[in-house]
Amino acid sequence: MMKTGLYEDVHYLRTESRLLGIPLTFYVYAVDGLLVDTGPASQREDIIPFLERSAIREVALTHAHEDHCGLAAWIQQNLDVPVYLHEALHAEVGTDARLPLYRKLAWDSRKAFTPRPLPEVFRTPKYRFEILPAPGHTPDHVVLWEKERGWLFTGDFFLGVSQVVAFRGEESGRSIDSLKRLIALGADTLFTAHAGVLTEGTRHLTRRLEFLEELRGKVHELRAEGLSDRAIARRLLPRRKLITLISVGEWSTRHLVRGL
Ligand SMILES: [Zn+2]
Repeated sequence: MMKTGLYEDVHYLRTESRLLGIPLTFYVYAVDGLLVDTGPASQREDIIPFLERSAIREVALTHAHEDHCGLAAWIQQNLDVPVYLHEALHAEVGTDARLPLYRKLAWDSRKAFTPRPLPEVFRTPKYRFEILPAPGHTPDHVVLWEKERGWLFTGDFFLGVSQVVAFRGEESGRSIDSLKRLIALGADTLFTAHAGVLTEGTRHLTRRLEFLEELRGKVHELRAEGLSDRAIARRLLPRRKLITLISVGEWSTRHLVRGL
């Protein structure tokens, strides 16, 4: 169900897509004219009125997954505001995304758009958002940090404390290094794309770090015993997940083990 709200000075829209009846939640954030991620094209009927109400002047994208930039092309064509994205992803988003069926069903297509390179800092009339690299979920993922307010916009860097499957190519080992850097910031609030607004931000990041370090320790022990990634995944994460089936292996326990 769609919902809008305000946390401190950050406007948010919670919207829900469905994949085979499973709800998929997405949060879009607008603060002082800056939009952080556009949300998926499938939710355009909820998101477009929110964008129009929020008087967006610029758009920062945390990474190029279709649920985060699915409306970037629409925004460029209709609102005439700049869209910023890590330069390494510009070639990828310059053509329409070719997505596996389940992602198309979940989030709809992502049309080609022409972003500008991310600046080091976004300055809005009231705030200053630093762009910080946060590799893990994807290699070029970034987060936005507003130091005075203690706000951290995390995109998909933080999906939850624990995890049983990872996306193909996800580098969970690098997430550990990124988490250590982000914990040092002392964030009060996390604005996450799928889990909403989380107070006590640093506590969530710390619990996430503890979870990943513990799992990595177990992976390394089993690897030292000579087990393959597949065997380690079966031992540590034995329950088969529906998403592995639906995504034809794009999400799996094995990717998590390999990434660690
Ligand atoms: Zn993502």
